[in-house]
Amino acid sequence: MSGADRRLRIVMAASEAVPFSKTGGLADVAGSLTQALDRAGHDVVLILPDYPSLRHGRPQVSAVSSTGLQFSLDMNGRAVTAGLNWATLPGSQVRVLLVSQPEYFDRTQPYGDTSGSYFDNCERFCFFSRLVPEICRKLVLQPDILHCNDWHTGLIPALLNTVYQGMKGLERTASVMTIHNLAYQGQFQDYEFPLTGMPRRYYNMYQMEAWGHLNLLKTGLAFADQLTTVSPTYASEICHTENGCGLDGVLRHRGQSLAGILNGIDEQIWDPEQDPRIPQNYSIETRKAGKAICKQQVQQSFSLRQDPDVPLVGMVTRLADQKGLDLLAAGVDRFLAEGSQLVFLGTGDRRYEQLLRDLPGRFPGQAGGCIGFDEDLAHRIEAGADMFLMPSRFEPCGLNQMYSLRYGTVPIVRSVGGLADSVIDYTGTTESLREATGFSFRDYSTDVLLQTLQRAVQAWRQPQVWDQLVRNGMKLDWSWDRSATRYLEVYQRALKNVDLRAAQGRM
Ligand code: ADP
Repeated sequence: MSGADRRLRIVMAASEAVPFSKTGGLADVAGSLTQALDRAGHDVVLILPDYPSLRHGRPQVSAVSSTGLQFSLDMNGRAVTAGLNWATLPGSQVRVLLVSQPEYFDRTQPYGDTSGSYFDNCERFCFFSRLVPEICRKLVLQPDILHCNDWHTGLIPALLNTVYQGMKGLERTASVMTIHNLAYQGQFQDYEFPLTGMPRRYYNMYQMEAWGHLNLLKTGLAFADQLTTVSPTYASEICHTENGCGLDGVLRHRGQSLAGILNGIDEQIWDPEQDPRIPQNYSIETRKAGKAICKQQVQQSFSLRQDPDVPLVGMVTRLADQKGLDLLAAGVDRFLAEGSQLVFLGTGDRRYEQLLRDLPGRFPGQAGGCIGFDEDLAHRIEAGADMFLMPSRFEPCGLNQMYSLRYGTVPIVRSVGGLADSVIDYTGTTESLREATGFSFRDYSTDVLLQTLQRAVQAWRQPQVWDQLVRNGMKLDWSWDRSATRYLEVYQRALKNVDLRAAQGRM
């Protein structure tokens, strides 16, 4: 078989995947994209570290058994062994291979604890990355595509193109590297380089070194056949110095091989028609009555004035600078002084936690929320709020704006990264209303944020306009199947690179 339709053997390597482990969007992509590729008829294997204490107690995780296989690697003079467990991704035929190395991975969190990142992260993820090609060979997986994600697996494309080049079982494997957030790069001291198992000559500014450090994300960017990131706008933003986090040079150099593909959402979990976590299910037809009940419930549970005629703005977010919380901090008093309500859910930076904790006392009946991580509550806020606020400083893709659109909750976003690619601003004209799904602003300024909130509240006071915005948003398709089609195009381009390399090798 040949051509774009042939069944591909795809191995996805990631440091986390739903439902086995999750700290962020990467886990959603690894868990959902693999399923979508499986639905599209491809043969998909997902390789993850096994974090036993994270998967225990997760009812969605299917039975995990040992393959009985053992692997051993020399980690800078120390022999380290690992077992390999396997499971299936629930609801699919995707085989999941879990690298079992309790010393590295039996910890309470994947990357660090309250005192910071784990001291041995370089060693842990070099070990994981180096095991991936070994697993492919031992299990005769013969992947067409090895799809790597973020810095944790950035070493794999380098290994494929050097240490494993031409090796049986991997000689026709193409690599794809996806950036989920360029701000996290896996930068380590140069003395850790031997852990990579790579010849020292690759420690140079074009390949594995950046600004005096070993950089595992850059390594992946330099060596992979194709690169992707999680939205088209972010793909172009990161090629500029302002948003390139020091890697814009290598990204510009590889610009021809970089694609931006918007993430999908899990449409089973985020479906207002079937969501068991919200007090009233609703569809595009029953949106008004459904959302009214959900709104009332949110107002009630956070001691907000139970008034359907006050606009309710929701926020569910990590409380980090990335999310534009300094803008909110500077403008929230002025916004609430105009009478709207705000409901929030988040955890993170202490100073933002304190700001939000104090708000209900200062604006009783108008502001309420919760400091913490609570998936049930996130669903109830998405369903109950009229508007959803995401004033991010930068946002590679963002998921909450897509959940909001699906739940008929109009997003108000800063026009960056995936937010720019998924929300169409309503400018106030009849023409714009045909397609608009929300409100967006460009300047990172509190005044502009407040003006945008005012625009949204004005539109909310015009029920026909608002309802059109809600319907425009609810109609959109955010399925992973749509994203998977784009990834398959990238895979085809990566395979062409391999053909080219093979032809050059024969010459
Ligand atoms: P990021 O990955 O940068 O945090 P995304 O918007 O891509 O931002 O994804 C965040 C995910 O985490 C969403 O599914 C969001 O609902 C969820 N989330 C964030 N904070 C909380 C919280 N405090 N409680 C529940 N879910 C949260």
